[in-house]
Amino acid sequence: MIEKSLVLIKPDGVQRGLISEIIGRFERVGLKLVAIKMVHPTHDDVEKHYTLTDEWMLGVYTKAKAKYESVGEKFPFTDHQAYGKSIKEGLVNFLKSSPVVAMVWEGETAVSLIRKMVGNTEPASATPGTIRGDLSHDSYALSNTQNRPIRNLVHASGNVKEAEHEIGIWFTDTELYKYEHVNDRVQYDPDWFLSK
Ligand code: UDP
Ligand code: MG
Repeated sequence: MIEKSLVLIKPDGVQRGLISEIIGRFERVGLKLVAIKMVHPTHDDVEKHYTLTDEWMLGVYTKAKAKYESVGEKFPFTDHQAYGKSIKEGLVNFLKSSPVVAMVWEGETAVSLIRKMVGNTEPASATPGTIRGDLSHDSYALSNTQNRPIRNLVHASGNVKEAEHEIGIWFTDTELYKYEHVNDRVQYDPDWFLSK
């Protein structure tokens, strides 16, 4: 299925001069850029982007707890809602502090492909070859000690439903472009290599 996914280069990615490096990876894998802009987000933009559902709070809590336990450490938080709320508050302040680059990339199974390329939420555990694993090394331990969100360079939609919701927050329909890309033929056209 051809899908669209939202990617944000967060303030740390912009301020570290990694915009072209990150965009280059998505271009090289064969995805098609269909929308892009630099934007200094408002409080509202970020509030809408990270919806504070119980599922989200439990997700961030469980992932962080699992990492602490995998290295034999006790996770110092017990309430997933309190943890989730404090992460969200930190994220809102982080993302609205400085410009980000918002993009929509399109391609076959784009959402999961981009998640694979972005890597684990915690850069210190993200595999080499991924954006977070190659270009950053922040950790739960350091970010929690400093009482701030993990600086992991990018946001990427977690699933197709999340992607649709997020694209609607950052882009209007007229900002999503349709055009011919060489990959529409060379990667996806079944007749492209048939002899004429
Ligand atoms: N985050 C954090 N500490 C945590 C969990 C999450 O700072 O313990 C931040 C981090 O920046 C992450 C964002 O919250 O990218 C959203 O969390 P999510 O679980 O959705 O991770 P992602 O989808 O970005 O990998
Ligand atoms: Mg997420």
